[in-house]
Amino acid sequence: MKRIVIKVGSHVLTEDGAIAKARMLALVQLIAELKAHKYDVILVSSGAVAAGFTLLPLDRGSVANKQALAAIGQPLLLKMYQEKFAKFGLLCSQVLLSADVFDSAKHIQHAKVAIDTLLKNGVIPIINENDTVSIEELVFGDNDRLSAHVAHYFDAQLLIILSDIDAYYDKDPNRYDDAKRRAVVSEISEEELNAEHTPNNEFATGGIVTKLQAADFLMQHGREMFLASGFDLSDVKSFLVDKKHKGGTLFKA
Ligand code: ADP
Repeated sequence: MKRIVIKVGSHVLTEDGAIAKARMLALVQLIAELKAHKYDVILVSSGAVAAGFTLLPLDRGSVANKQALAAIGQPLLLKMYQEKFAKFGLLCSQVLLSADVFDSAKHIQHAKVAIDTLLKNGVIPIINENDTVSIEELVFGDNDRLSAHVAHYFDAQLLIILSDIDAYYDKDPNRYDDAKRRAVVSEISEEELNAEHTPNNEFATGGIVTKLQAADFLMQHGREMFLASGFDLSDVKSFLVDKKHKGGTLFKA
């Protein structure tokens, strides 16, 4: 079994302020297929705030309201995942983590035992930040950093980030028509790591910079990251199932 982490961003999982059910189903179907190809998959999923907003439309301008929305939406998000995974005869589970878990060897070890046991039993762990005690990713990051820590500390060689953008480009493709895709990146400059943040959506908080920071962290620890589209899963499927790198960006030192 090859252990991988898949992170899906808010923009991919939401549409018109609600959870994009067809996209969620496509993701779940992909994970079911990956399991059949001997991958153990840990899913890091955003979307709790958006799910909460469909039940109670609080103003998302304040962090307190976002925390409340995440608390309201997280069980709904998991219920939706449970229903979809059940269509494929799979069980999923909820694992809520805060960033400071990764500051403590003891907490990492506890969490790893739980994750290992879930995977050993064929259950998909669905990880999200516990937004009532930790607001790092809620305010900034949209789980990009959290997913890099998950991959490293829970021993996955590869992190897949499914984004609203299909790859990393030499400049922002939403602003420049002549932006070129970078297929493989082996080094990220200080300038790229400290660039202005550019999230592309009202629910998103990361932008490309937090993805580059995640990739940099993983490369420094001998691991890899693959950035691909979450709207069209064909590139990630080619990469993982057919072992063909068509679209997307592989970050590998
Ligand atoms: P998500 O929420 O889907 O994870 P974000 O919207 O937070 O993703 O970040 C992706 C966005 O970053 C893209 O839609 C794009 O507008 C922006 N971006 C800025 N510079 C680049 C670049 N060099 N390559 C790719 N995307 C970039």
